[in-house]
Amino acid sequence: MAAVLKLYNTLTRERENFAPIDPSRVRLYVCGPTVYDFAHIGNARPLIVFDVLYRLLREIYGRKHVKYVRNITDVDDKINARAAERGVSIRELTEGTNAVFQQDVSDLNCLPPDVQPRATEHIFEMIAIVQKLIDNGHAYASDGHVLFDVPSMADYGKLSRRSLDDMVAGARVEVAPYKKGEMDFVLWKPSKEGEPGWDSPWGFGRPGWHLECSAMSHKHLGEVFDIHGGGIDLVFPHHENEIAQTRCAFGHDVMANVWMHNGFLQVEGEKMSKSLGNFVTIHELLHEDKFGGRAWKGDVLRLAMLRSHYRQPIDWTVKALEEAEKTLQRWYALLRDKKPAPGALAEPFVEALCDDLNTPGAISELHQLAKAGDADALLRAANLLGLLHDDPAAWDGKASADIDAAEVEKLIGERLAARRAKNFAESDRLRDVLVGMGIKLMDARNKQTGELETTWEVG
Ligand SMILES: [Zn+2]
Repeated sequence: MAAVLKLYNTLTRERENFAPIDPSRVRLYVCGPTVYDFAHIGNARPLIVFDVLYRLLREIYGRKHVKYVRNITDVDDKINARAAERGVSIRELTEGTNAVFQQDVSDLNCLPPDVQPRATEHIFEMIAIVQKLIDNGHAYASDGHVLFDVPSMADYGKLSRRSLDDMVAGARVEVAPYKKGEMDFVLWKPSKEGEPGWDSPWGFGRPGWHLECSAMSHKHLGEVFDIHGGGIDLVFPHHENEIAQTRCAFGHDVMANVWMHNGFLQVEGEKMSKSLGNFVTIHELLHEDKFGGRAWKGDVLRLAMLRSHYRQPIDWTVKALEEAEKTLQRWYALLRDKKPAPGALAEPFVEALCDDLNTPGAISELHQLAKAGDADALLRAANLLGLLHDDPAAWDGKASADIDAAEVEKLIGERLAARRAKNFAESDRLRDVLVGMGIKLMDARNKQTGELETTWEVG
């Protein structure tokens, strides 16, 4: 490929030409899920974004020359609390949640990373790093805990661009008696009876959250590697602390050369939260009717996600999913009864993607290819975004390309109005119109308001 890959680096706040340490061994680490509950749609964003990056790196450097590591956090206080709440064992909870997670990412058509290390299988490596940090004066043991000594690192705060003085001034937390400095963070902490724990030189305990990524990236990618990714919410403290641990343990100026962060996701213009009732999991989107009254295909979720540039905030809306679905229906229609021929990727598509993963630009190139009726080039390019992998026949019939969702909603609204006005002849007529369009209607009373509501699906 001719285009030069440029990536925005959070560490330098600049777009840089990407130059791997060793082009025959390009190394990428992304922080993975804490397996205590189903992954929500905000968690899907880094999964999809870094999957596109992984695919692009494989395209540029060759499949065998890229190593992608994404961890699984299976020891965490949230896990302990949830297992106790449900009355199940920690193992049962983490195994079950991880199985759903693996199915979710596969349904989103994300390639499996080369390694998915689990925290509980890297305790030995974590203890080794803690010991190294104690030995070289960057950590201290105190009252069953081991703390990272933040002031011992001259340039702590470089990634998030916070100075230690500012952080101390801004911290309003009460300082635990075992801490020397307010910003010192936990590397190891004691476990009580019944809590998960391991024997260590500092007593029976468990690791602090940040430690696992330092241990697992070191084990699987080395002391310094190429790219570290995650959500923007992880910059501080998680990534800052990973950097502190790894750099101080191994004595390098950087942990990873490039740090990439995807932007926030909100739902229908609001922050996603359980209390607002707009919390939506990947599993629900794929298999239930909680969002827009219906389930959505993995390809639809993926295209809707990639329509925004990864660093921009994204607003997750039913409308965007409907639009993505319509686009995919048109594209799949082009692929029907065709056996695509191999060939080169369209140059403008590659250029867009190499421009700091400009997926909106890449998608507009896909529109151009579809418009030109070039099914082969469309398929090749879309596949690099992880799209159009379904059998086009699966997009036949049931999901008709001709349904205008806005028109359907309008007719349903008119029908409900006719029913409220007791004009049953008119409401029956409108029902027949909708059925004639291939729409299946489902009427139900809203439990709160007692109002009749109608949902619909095609087929
Ligand atoms: Zn991490």
